[in-house]
Amino acid sequence: MSEARMSTKCIQETTAFHGHWCPGLALGIRVAEWAVNEMGKSPDEEIVAVVETDMCGVDAIQFLTGCTFGKGNLIHRDYGKNAFSFYRRRDGKAMRLVAKPDLFGEKGRLLGRLHRKKLREGLNEEEARRLERTREEISTHIMEAPLQELFEMKKPIEPVPRKARILTSLTCESCGEQMMESRSRRFQEQILCIPCFEALERR
Ligand SMILES: [Zn+2]
Ligand SMILES: [Zn+2]
Repeated sequence: MSEARMSTKCIQETTAFHGHWCPGLALGIRVAEWAVNEMGKSPDEEIVAVVETDMCGVDAIQFLTGCTFGKGNLIHRDYGKNAFSFYRRRDGKAMRLVAKPDLFGEKGRLLGRLHRKKLREGLNEEEARRLERTREEISTHIMEAPLQELFEMKKPIEPVPRKARILTSLTCESCGEQMMESRSRRFQEQILCIPCFEALERR
């Protein structure tokens, strides 16, 4: 496993893109670091990422790997897992990085307790400092630990996603707005967009 690390400048730029420094972003940076070292950067659709979370870490992956929503080579599966698959079209190389269970141990549980208390009733000064310190400690650990300690390396659970295709547009017969053909729905001979279709279903 390659261990060439991101520069401090790179980390600062990623933090600016995301808006704050946090354990989730740190995790994403380590994933991106692995992807760039092992797969290369993706100016086009050569590298594809499938992410199973939509949390902080995905911003690092978009910013650092060249896999972005807009290009269609970043695909979100809403499984709520810290799991990230990468595929290289040229030679079929593929890997899924899954954050190990209980990755942050006792510190992670403390962070969870403090977060819940913050939402429920707020924190006193001492607790607020503790929360910040714990976040910082977890982030530092993520940045410094060997990858093998953070992730399991597995085979992807799905084949490489197909290239983004240009599809024809259809016009919704209810709201008059256009949508991609692949996102159109049919209801009693009518062609509808998804929001109009779902509004009908709710009636
Ligand atoms: Zn964050
Ligand atoms: Zn519509």
